[in-house]
Amino acid sequence: LDLDPVEANFSALTPTTFVKRAALAHPNRTAVIHGDIKRTWQETYQRCLKLASALRKLGVKKGDTVAALLPNIPEMLELHFAVPMLGAVLNAQNTRLDAKTMTYMLNHGKAKVFFTDREYSDRAREALAGCDAKPKVIDVDDPLFDGGELIGDMTFDTLLATGDDDFEWELPGEEWQSIALNYTSGTTGNPKGVVYHHRGAFLSALSNVVGFGLPDGAVYLWTLPMFHCNGWCYPWAVTAVAGTHVCLRQPHPKPIFEALARHGVTHFCAAPIVLNMLINAPEEQKLPFEQQVTAATGGAAPPAATIEAMEEMGIKVVHLYGLTETYGPSVVCDFQDEWHQLNPKEKARKMSRQGIPSLTMSDMMVADPSTLEPVRQDGMAIGEVFLRGNSVMKGYLNNPDETRKAFSGGWFHTGDLGVWHADGYIEIKDRSKDIIISGGENISTLEVESALYNHPSVLEAAVVAAPDEHWGEIPCAFITLKQGTDELSEDDVITHCREHLAGFKVPKKVIFTPALPKTSTGKLQKHVLRMQLAG
Ligand code: ADP
Repeated sequence: LDLDPVEANFSALTPTTFVKRAALAHPNRTAVIHGDIKRTWQETYQRCLKLASALRKLGVKKGDTVAALLPNIPEMLELHFAVPMLGAVLNAQNTRLDAKTMTYMLNHGKAKVFFTDREYSDRAREALAGCDAKPKVIDVDDPLFDGGELIGDMTFDTLLATGDDDFEWELPGEEWQSIALNYTSGTTGNPKGVVYHHRGAFLSALSNVVGFGLPDGAVYLWTLPMFHCNGWCYPWAVTAVAGTHVCLRQPHPKPIFEALARHGVTHFCAAPIVLNMLINAPEEQKLPFEQQVTAATGGAAPPAATIEAMEEMGIKVVHLYGLTETYGPSVVCDFQDEWHQLNPKEKARKMSRQGIPSLTMSDMMVADPSTLEPVRQDGMAIGEVFLRGNSVMKGYLNNPDETRKAFSGGWFHTGDLGVWHADGYIEIKDRSKDIIISGGENISTLEVESALYNHPSVLEAAVVAAPDEHWGEIPCAFITLKQGTDELSEDDVITHCREHLAGFKVPKKVIFTPALPKTSTGKLQKHVLRMQLAG
């Protein structure tokens, strides 16, 4: 049946339509909560229109970049709609970066407008001083933050007041148009600017709705930074179900538990390290809540012990895997009904595997990176994880060499090493640069860390390669201990590991430390630990 579709039905897939629909479907439902501020979907849509109109008057055109250095506040959410309504590109910046990197991003992305918050005024001012792009600077004067300074040309509210209520926005001409620019962390060299398209953002948002099981009217708590892969596309996903966005400036356990109890939060996303903070929070902070709460975790491997402890606290866990280059989550550990029959440890072990491609990915394989030959699906053979599909970036901005490398052979190269199980689930063993090769044997640092997390006194663990004359590399464990637990010796840790791991994987060296170095998105900075070992 070869029938041409009616052209009038063609419209580019874009997540900007979600806010219009939320306002139509549930105008009076609470869209945003931020401290004492509460706004409905009708009010939020109106503010997005006014903001888009005001930005247009400021000179923002199709293809321009609007940068935002903001915490999880309503203005950051509104920018996720207002900027793409103009065909412009949102560059949400990591709020923990140094001024020099911010300058690099503002210049590289050619930012026309830069939104910032008083909390970051020192670094923002320094970043702007060294910047050739000379964007217009808009301060968000958030009532929930005291201190810092207003450094810009005007405040957000002043800008908003210049916008028209009846601004008419257009759908993007085509869905491959750029919607967002997200810089990778750039631990080796300058960060790379990952470009997303409207189509990918639309599909990733809907895939999150399905993968996370977001129901109509979900109450979503903003623990994950909105700057991280556009909050894994949840600004758009939660709006698609006309849910309620509960904003949070800092993901500390106390305000998280308060929000669960006070606002009836049903869903939140967080890196495993944040889950660990919740598990180990003082008992008096763990306020009771009545609703079913589900937490999606990813961004780093969640140890099975963390998943188990979350479920013990009555919070359901969904495990997701992905990268900045894949709009955040693109692989999901779909829960199998028969896992309900397993004991909690075995169940958590199954759930700690990364899973199968999300709804929008067309293909995934674990393969030999030099031949692209898939490895055996036996849970043993290690290869690199490759992905293909609608939720993979357009490429790196102005960086054809890295883009070509990332897509060589027609697959996106994740740089992660893992095994492929018989049921099609992948299990990440390490980043290729973190794996330890000791006497010719591969040691997954994640596996050793997982064993360490099984010790009741261990709060956090990171395993890295230490140079060794005989073995080439040996595993070295950095450990922080829980407060109020017994002191541990190196021997105690080694004895514990021997019970859980093959001999060659047991750390040969154990270093106790008060804290582990982490990025703003809660990832361990293993390169810092390796440098420490190298002296
Ligand atoms: P970076 O950490 O380099 O700034 P990303 O935020 O894009 O960049 O991180 C992507 C990486 O995070 C992946 O390549 C992988 O190593 C790790 N990662 C993300 N989710 C998971 C997960 N569920 N399990 C294991 N590793 C993960």
